[in-house]
Amino acid sequence: KWNEIPLAPPDKILGISEAFQKDTNSKKINLGVGAYRDNSGKPIVFPSVKKAETVLLEKETDKEYTGIIGSKKYQDSVRNFIFNNSGKDASGAQLIKEGRIVTAQTISGTGSLRVIADFLKRFNSAQNIIVPKPTWANHVAVFTDAGLSADFYAYYDKENNDLDFANLKKSISDAADESVILLHACCHNPTGMDLTPEQWEEVLAIIEQKKLFPLVDMAYQGFASGSPYKDIGLIRRLNELVQEGKIPTYALCQSFAKNMGLYGERTGSISIIAESGSQAKAIESQLKKLIRPMYSNPPIHGSRIVETIFSDENLLSEWLADLDSVVGRLNVVRDKLYQKLDKTNYNWDHLLKQRGMFIYTGLSAEQVIELREKYSVYATEDGRFSISGVNEHNVDYLADAINQVIKK
Ligand code: PMP
Repeated sequence: KWNEIPLAPPDKILGISEAFQKDTNSKKINLGVGAYRDNSGKPIVFPSVKKAETVLLEKETDKEYTGIIGSKKYQDSVRNFIFNNSGKDASGAQLIKEGRIVTAQTISGTGSLRVIADFLKRFNSAQNIIVPKPTWANHVAVFTDAGLSADFYAYYDKENNDLDFANLKKSISDAADESVILLHACCHNPTGMDLTPEQWEEVLAIIEQKKLFPLVDMAYQGFASGSPYKDIGLIRRLNELVQEGKIPTYALCQSFAKNMGLYGERTGSISIIAESGSQAKAIESQLKKLIRPMYSNPPIHGSRIVETIFSDENLLSEWLADLDSVVGRLNVVRDKLYQKLDKTNYNWDHLLKQRGMFIYTGLSAEQVIELREKYSVYATEDGRFSISGVNEHNVDYLADAINQVIKK
């Protein structure tokens, strides 16, 4: 039997990094991985995170297990941060008061998605999920490995490098009633193209009418506007619709990987909005029952960093400033690249509409391969470029390479 185990294909994104490592061209650029790099191409630790770690180093007195769904402090501060904006979001505050939001620490965003997928498999009547086409490369595998069936709804028009809103609405309308629908809260991965508030209203009306279950994935909170409090328009609207009784329940998968730079600390959360406080208690108990045999409980270092930052006003402001400067740099290189790209035969305007860590160039697989082979510019073959790999020192080289490749 073991002789028959077939070789699995390597992970596409991680495979690119491996090839990049081997390349000896000093001008090589890695645009594959969605992790932040500073202007000299190096990874960073947010200064506010370092400070929180200094506090922990002095004050931490144990390395005991946390709860199955994390500490109460983590749950409360994350819930308050996302749904209450420290008292400024009326609908979210009311839902918290009614005890209707269950928040659990999870193993970052991926763990959060997997936990909700297993939960839906167990308790949701619909066993299918629809996800945007395209979506983050791991989404479908997470849901289907948990036993849900996954299908796509239209999202992006590759011909015109724009949101395909008419088909998006149509394909959501055509989905089976009560299906689970995956929504990217902001900075849609891989396209960087989000819905406007007006477009969200139209989509939410279809969701309400068809009784779809919204599952929101928020991996880039803060990367659209620079402020995490501004990037939660969809969450706010959902809270209002829940309050009005138009949408009964929804779930939010969230990650601090990008917006606190806690990638490898695996720190995130799942929040489930229940119809009542008593339903929330049952959901919470079932989350514990589900997680305990899976990994027992989540890691504590990242969650203690989050707790430390959220419980100190100065650290919180410092973190908001750190995040703003990270996003600011990405926007600067996005604009610089746009300016240097040759627009005679190629319309690059979509770059200016896209937000987040990626640009979805619209380049073909052949063009991406040519960039890799001739110019040592590494990106996934769907034409998604992580602009965190771009900086003042390589933006000219990159623009020249792209201009050469599109010339033909
Ligand atoms: N959702 C989306 C859309 C993502 O882009 C990512 C990370 N690339 C994740 C979820 C999960 O990230 P993590 O598990 O590192 O928090």
